[in-house]
Order: sequence, then C-alpha cells, then structure tokens
Amino acid sequence: MSIVIIGGGWSGLAAAITLCQQDHSVHLLESAKQLGGRARNVEWQNKTIDNGQHLMIGAYHHMLAMMELIGIDINKSFQRYPIDITINDTEYQPLHLSAKGWLPWPFSLAWNLANSAGLSGLKQVANLQSNIPKLLKNKDISVSDWLLHTKQSERLIKQLWEPLCLATLNTPIDQASAHLLATVLQDSLGQNKSFADLLVPRQPLGDLFPRQAVRYIEQHGGKISLQTRVKQLLIKQKKIQAVITQDGETITAEHIIVATSPTQSADLTSPHLNIDTPAEYPICTIYLQYPFDTRLSSPMLGLTGTLSQWIFDRSKQHPGLMAVVISGPGEHEAMSKNELIQQVCKEIHQQLPSLPETADHSLVIREKRATFACTVNIEKMRPNSQTNISGLWLAGDFVANSYPATLEGAIRNGESCAKLLALSLA
Ligand SMILES: Cc1cc2nc3c(=O)[nH]c(=O)nc-3n(C[C@H](O)[C@H](O)[C@H](O)COP(=O)(O)OP(=O)(O)OC[C@H]3O[C@@H](n4cnc5c(N)ncnc54)[C@H](O)[C@@H]3O)c2cc1C
Repeated sequence: MSIVIIGGGWSGLAAAITLCQQDHSVHLLESAKQLGGRARNVEWQNKTIDNGQHLMIGAYHHMLAMMELIGIDINKSFQRYPIDITINDTEYQPLHLSAKGWLPWPFSLAWNLANSAGLSGLKQVANLQSNIPKLLKNKDISVSDWLLHTKQSERLIKQLWEPLCLATLNTPIDQASAHLLATVLQDSLGQNKSFADLLVPRQPLGDLFPRQAVRYIEQHGGKISLQTRVKQLLIKQKKIQAVITQDGETITAEHIIVATSPTQSADLTSPHLNIDTPAEYPICTIYLQYPFDTRLSSPMLGLTGTLSQWIFDRSKQHPGLMAVVISGPGEHEAMSKNELIQQVCKEIHQQLPSLPETADHSLVIREKRATFACTVNIEKMRPNSQTNISGLWLAGDFVANSYPATLEGAIRNGESCAKLLALSLA
C-alpha cells in the first residue's frame, strides 16, 4: 500500500509517524530544503534560532504525547514554568496572570489578578468565564462583542483580552471568533494548573521535533524527500492515482495526505475539492542581541500600548538574545526593518530601562502567512480530513478541530488523519 504525504511541517510529520507506528509504508514529500514548515530552524550569526518565537503550553497534550512516542524526553527538552506573566502597559499599572504564591490553583491566579486589576477586575474575568458555556451554545460572535456583552473594562480589554486574543488566535478582537478564544481559555486556564504551564524548548524548533521525527520515520521504513514540490494531483474517476512533482516525476500512490497550509491545500486540490481559503495573518519576530549578561526577570513579558506585544528572554539558549513578537496585521507591516528595530528597541528600553537603548545585532523575520485568521464562524469553513475523493485526505492545522492555528492543532490533525486512513485499510 503506497501512501504519500505532501508537506513536512509538524502536521505531515505527525501523520507520517502515526502511519509508520502502524507499519504502513510512507513517502513524505517536502518542497523546502528542510522540514518544519512554519516552525523551523533559521541560521543567524552562527546561531540556530527559530523562524518565529513559539509559545507552547502544558495543554498541548497531543504534541507532548507524539514527542514521547518518538523518544523525546519531555523533561530534558523543555523548561516548564508555572504561568507567571506580567503585562506592562504605557498607561496602567502592570497586570499579573500568575499562579505564584501559596494559594492552590485557581485561587492563586485569582489572587494575583485581584492584586493587580482590583476586585472589580477579578469579577469581570469571572463573569466572562462563567459565560463560556452559554456562549458556546449560541452562534459565534466577535471577541469584541463578547467582551462588551460580559462588561469588560477598557483596561482589561487593552491589557488582558486584546494581547491574549492576538497571542492565541493571531486575529484582532473585532474580527476574532469568541468561540475559539473561549475554547482556548477553557483548555488552558479553566482546567488543571499544569495545563497553563509555559513550555520553553531548550533547543531550536527544528531540532526539537522535526529532526527526531525523521529518525523515527526512517527507522520505521518511511522515506522523506526534501526539495520535492508537488505540482499536481492525478485523480481519475474520483480516485487518487499519483502526484506529479515540479521536476516532472510521477509518484503513484493509493492514498495521499495533503498536509500543507490552507491556501496551499486549496491550490493543490482544486478543482477536485472546494476548500474555503481563510485570510492568513502575519507574525513578526524581531531578534535583538544584547550584551551576553542581559536578562529579563521572567521568561516572557507582555507589553501593551506599544507596537511590541511580547518580549521573550532567549538567553538560556543564546546569552543576551531577546525575541520581540508582533502578532496579527497592523501598522508595523508598512515599516522598514530599520524603522521597526529602532521603534522596538526604544519601547523595550522605556519599559525596561535596564536593557540597553540599542541592540548589538538584530534580525527581523516576517512570516506573512503565519496562521489562518480565526475570524467569526471560522469553524464552519474548516474541512474534515476525509474527502469525497477516494484516497485523498487532508491534514494541516486548518482541518477542523476547534483549535486555532497551533502546533497542537497541527499535530492533532496529522495524527487523527493518519488514524482515519489506517482504519480505512483495516
Ligand atoms: C512566526 C510564527 C509564530 C507562531 N507561534 C505559534 C505559537 O506560539 N504557538 C503555536 O502553537 N503555534 C504557533 N504558530 C503556528 C504553528 O507554527 C503552525 O500552526 C504549525 O506550524 C502549522 O503546521 P502545519 O504542518 O499544519 O503547516 P506548515 O508548517 O505550513 O507545513 C506545511 C509544509 O508543506 C510544505 N509544502 C507546501 N506546499 C507543498 C507542495 N506543493 N509540495 C511539497 N511540500 C509543500 C511547506 O513547505 C511546509 O513545510 C506560529 C507560526 C508562525 C509562523
């Protein structure tokens, strides 16, 4: 039985691992020179860094289980921190989303929130949280409408909900799906304390999962071809036959999993499938190399009222390295790299005067199509893994799963697609 997987991002790799584990023979085709897709290694100044800062949390159960399956030691590969996020604003006092203290979860979170946002802030958050079941039963609305409906203050909107929405859905609150944000809040903050833990990889993303995945897939008889772009799917009488690569090679296959981004999947499968293509939004990461002894007091810090949204301390991997993240669309897209670096350095220095006014070296990485936009009713647009073409399957983070574009969603979809395919062969 020949199975071809198109795309060597985290989803395609998860599909390949799942099929190899069940003794199926797979051939994974990746157009780029390296695996990892939107979560890959980049070389810069003799350092291996990520194409963009990623945040993983304890609620990423499928990702962690997949890593364990292929022999990754989770404790060695990640530093795990109980949630402890401070969000500094240009106007308001810092706000703390933290589990620190002697109180048990979730009281510790409530206590720290009440201390920084007042009792009324805590009440508003509780009001929003208790509204989640009702919200999910009704039709989707925008996050802004939900915040209005649950009477959130200007301060909480600016300093808590806007940054959380951008960080998790990469979509501005007036467009973002309240259903999706509610699901994320429920799965991360509404459960066990460990689900909200921040997981910071000790190595670059490409070494963390893709490299280990290759070892597992090849040891289990799978094949991986890099720099192999699929140009066309060969489909006859509603049944998959083969793929044709850009070099003109025909690779026959009885089953094909397309594990690419939504627009790439729509292009590849057209006109046989009619995949709705969502808007795709950018994420910009600005790496700033400061003197080696530069540190933040916590792994990450949120900033509001500024262009910079989050600053991550990467000095455990590369001394003095900070990563500043700007999610979603915005005025920064029209700025030149130099303008962006200058503005971000200025903001960081104003908020954290212990950091120098300028960085020694800097790098701007703009991922223009970082994630699909998680807009209102997006769930209705997302396709299922199984298609009406025999032997054609879909994976990738966009396939329906009630999660935004995340590594967890990508792995979950790769795994579940492979399991459905395997079941069809049984
Ligand atoms: C800057 C940035 C920051 C992010 N931050 C976070 C975060 O903090 N937390 C989080 O969980 N997620 C985050 N994400 C999202 C996460 O990276 C993605 O959801 C995930 O990587 C998607 O994986 P995928 O396998 O579905 O798709 P992709 O990674 O897009 O993989 C698709 C692969 O298919 C290949 N391909 C495309 N067309 C073809 C073709 N015709 N033939 C062969 N190969 C092809 C591509 O080269 C690519 O390697 C971020 C993404 C970016 C870009």
